[in-house]
Amino acid sequence: MTDYLNTALWTDDEIKFREEVREFCEREIGPIADEIDHGPYPKDILRKIGSAGYMGVLHEESVGGSHKGLSYEIIVAEEISAVNGGLDMARMASTTLYGMPVSKFGTEEQKIKYLKPIVEGEKIGCIGITEPDVGSDTAGMKTQAVKDGDEWVINGEKRFITNGSQADYMVCFAITDPSVNSKKGMSAFIVDTEADGFSIVKDHDLLGMKSARVSWLKMEDVRVGPDKLLGETGDGFKILMDELDSERTAIAGEAIGYGRTPYEVSVKHANEREQFGRPIRMFEGVSFKIANMSMKLEAGRALTLAAARKYDRGEPITREASIAKLYTTEAAIEITNDALQILGGSGYTTEYPVERFLRDARLMTIGGGTAEILRFLIQREVFKQFYPK
Ligand SMILES: Cc1cc2nc3c(=O)[nH]c(=O)nc-3n(C[C@H](O)[C@H](O)[C@H](O)COP(=O)(O)OP(=O)(O)OC[C@H]3O[C@@H](n4cnc5c(N)ncnc54)[C@H](O)[C@@H]3O)c2cc1C
Repeated sequence: MTDYLNTALWTDDEIKFREEVREFCEREIGPIADEIDHGPYPKDILRKIGSAGYMGVLHEESVGGSHKGLSYEIIVAEEISAVNGGLDMARMASTTLYGMPVSKFGTEEQKIKYLKPIVEGEKIGCIGITEPDVGSDTAGMKTQAVKDGDEWVINGEKRFITNGSQADYMVCFAITDPSVNSKKGMSAFIVDTEADGFSIVKDHDLLGMKSARVSWLKMEDVRVGPDKLLGETGDGFKILMDELDSERTAIAGEAIGYGRTPYEVSVKHANEREQFGRPIRMFEGVSFKIANMSMKLEAGRALTLAAARKYDRGEPITREASIAKLYTTEAAIEITNDALQILGGSGYTTEYPVERFLRDARLMTIGGGTAEILRFLIQREVFKQFYPK
């Protein structure tokens, strides 16, 4: 399988790195990929991913990372997701969703204390944005942090939090000044999940991503010191928007992974399965589906890499990241669905991994910004470009 070796797009080092990650995944994750779908993944596997360096490609050397950039993160995301989607969702929630706000807005002291153990795979992080009454409209956040002397007292609930019940730390967004627009009145804190008043309401029972834990969390008078504030008071919305650009590009990388394995399984099946005296790939109804899958995977990779390259150059990528995530996640649902169709009845059984990838892929037009919200963001960027103020 060399379709990913598009040398026009990837550097030699990126191609070599991909080979290494793929080998690691085949060796360490492949043998347990079906088993951990009954969840949760063993903590030890995150340690192995950390030791191999795949938690740290976005992070600085001072916290144990390799600082290679987002173009490498999308490779890790694709390769692990091509084996088990839930595991990469958990890895990414820890190192990218939790890790990037700490990496970009934390002090050196915060990074050593709260990021290094994440990069090493020793501790687990999560990000708390969504609440029972707040999803797409993040500015409507209800969780509040009230100043009490030097400390902050946090009250609120966070729902659908990946790694929630397993995490050691959460980057938690909360309103610190309800008298102003939440774009100015929101702040971001590092919350220790062992703190008094922090509790797990429950783990959600999910359609897919079953190797990960996704939880409903509650904070009742959770006290955090000034050393746990990220950036300045009121920086929360800025930190959130910044995080979403890297998250969405990395999710696009994952979506390519969910599509790739079902695509490969269905190519093999179409070649081997015979009906009406010939391999089913001889029927256009089957082979044209394969053509569409191949096209969508290539296009998705190009869009995702373009967004990552711009991010690594320090340029704004709201439009590119939204396009990459929207395209690849819708494509992943179409590809996994078509792959299941090509496998016929076998595809509907758990004897093939395709049904697992279809269930996992279905999340991706919801989590990290729904398809509708991404279309809204893309058109907004387009009109900004054509009609600047
Ligand atoms: C498995 C899983 C893992 C998750 N992990 C995390 C996590 O780690 N941390 C975290 O904070 N959150 C997490 N989430 C939450 C996720 O980001 C939200 O589910 C998502 O942002 C959508 O919010 P919502 O579910 O409240 O839907 P809503 O915002 O209520 O939306 C419902 C529907 O209305 C549509 N809609 C809403 N507003 C508009 C609009 N303006 N225009 C058009 N349509 C609109 C939406 O597109 C959607 O179809 C996770 C969710 C899941 C399911």
